Amino acid sequence: MTGAPNTYDAEPIPAAAWDEVQRLLSSGDLFRYTAKEDAPVALLEREFADLLGAKYALSVASCSAALFLSIKALDLKPGARILIPAFTFAAVPSSVVHAECVPVLVEVGENYRIDMADFKAKLDGTIDAVLISHMRGHTSDMDAIMELAETAGVPVIEDAAHSLGTTWAGRNIGTIGRVGCFSFQSYKLINAGEGGILITDDPDLIARAVIMSGAYEHNWKKHPVLQDHFARWQNKLPLYNTRLGNLSAAIIRPQLAEVVRRVRDGRRNHDHVATALNGSPWMAVPDPLGPELRAPDSIQFNLVGMTDDQVHAFVAAAAEQEVSVQVFGLSSDNARAFWNWEFLGPQPDLPQTRRMLMRACDVRLPARLSLDDCDYTANALLAAANRIMGSQNTKAVA
Ligand SMILES: *Cc1c(COP(=O)(O)O)cnc(C)c1O
Repeated sequence: MTGAPNTYDAEPIPAAAWDEVQRLLSSGDLFRYTAKEDAPVALLEREFADLLGAKYALSVASCSAALFLSIKALDLKPGARILIPAFTFAAVPSSVVHAECVPVLVEVGENYRIDMADFKAKLDGTIDAVLISHMRGHTSDMDAIMELAETAGVPVIEDAAHSLGTTWAGRNIGTIGRVGCFSFQSYKLINAGEGGILITDDPDLIARAVIMSGAYEHNWKKHPVLQDHFARWQNKLPLYNTRLGNLSAAIIRPQLAEVVRRVRDGRRNHDHVATALNGSPWMAVPDPLGPELRAPDSIQFNLVGMTDDQVHAFVAAAAEQEVSVQVFGLSSDNARAFWNWEFLGPQPDLPQTRRMLMRACDVRLPARLSLDDCDYTANALLAAANRIMGSQNTKAVA
């Protein structure tokens, strides 16, 4: 039997990036607006927009910065109320607060997707925008969300930080709403340490976002799109200076060609482990929605029929086999548990999301793992559950 796979290391950065980084270090040309044209950041924007099938892209310092700028570029005023799912990363409500808007949390179901009844009920006349966070790449019902938002006359922002490569009815996640935001932080599909990008087909939105990202004076002229849209906003918008540098772009660009393979291998690993875990009476991996084709680099599953003590014992038993399981709602100060977002002030309770978070497990499954690695992980989880719950009901594990 092989040992536990290392699930924390990232994949090596392609060699093409090394040469380009060397070139940039030699010339010192690290700022996106130094060169007249074809700076690595500008090339990344063109390539990323083409890859996703969007008209425009803007690289920024993080996905959080992209979400913040999206809210600002949509001209949502201080106090605007923005619907967000209650299962997301703390940076998402934070970006809303950063833009002086008010997050309104929507219940999420056992399958990690937005509860459409609660969404519908909360999308009343007081809501100014919707921010859909595709948490861990799980896609909510985008057809229903887009239709309801359209009827309500409010824009949809997609937080696709962790969803690069996911599709909904054949469309790329991040291209369905008015604007889509992605992350290049190390635990996402493309790793630059830090970084983010937003994409949109809306010329006015991109012009405003470009200027506010820090295209001061006439630097917007180095974005090879839409010059008249920029001129309208000259000196009218604040400069938040949250640009991406050329070194990051040089590290990201060669990884764009790796996306297809990483998506394919990540999906293979996920589905392999999901099939094994679904053979246990103590674990359930929710099915994706029909139109959804995922790009996972981790697996989420719910523990079934366990008390809190048994859940803790399960996590400890898995850890003994060097498989790290995070139960979102039971690990202390977890940034994905809404009750830890104390910076929001008092919030109404969300019992359904709370129940889900108390039993939902998170295990990393990077695309670079082999199927043997995946078997080790699956068998360790099955053995841990059997040890805690007894083996009488368990189906045989291949
Ligand atoms: C990682 C992540 C973010 C934040 O991305 P940063 O680039 O670190 O700001 C936001 N939303 C989701 C769903 C994420 O997974």
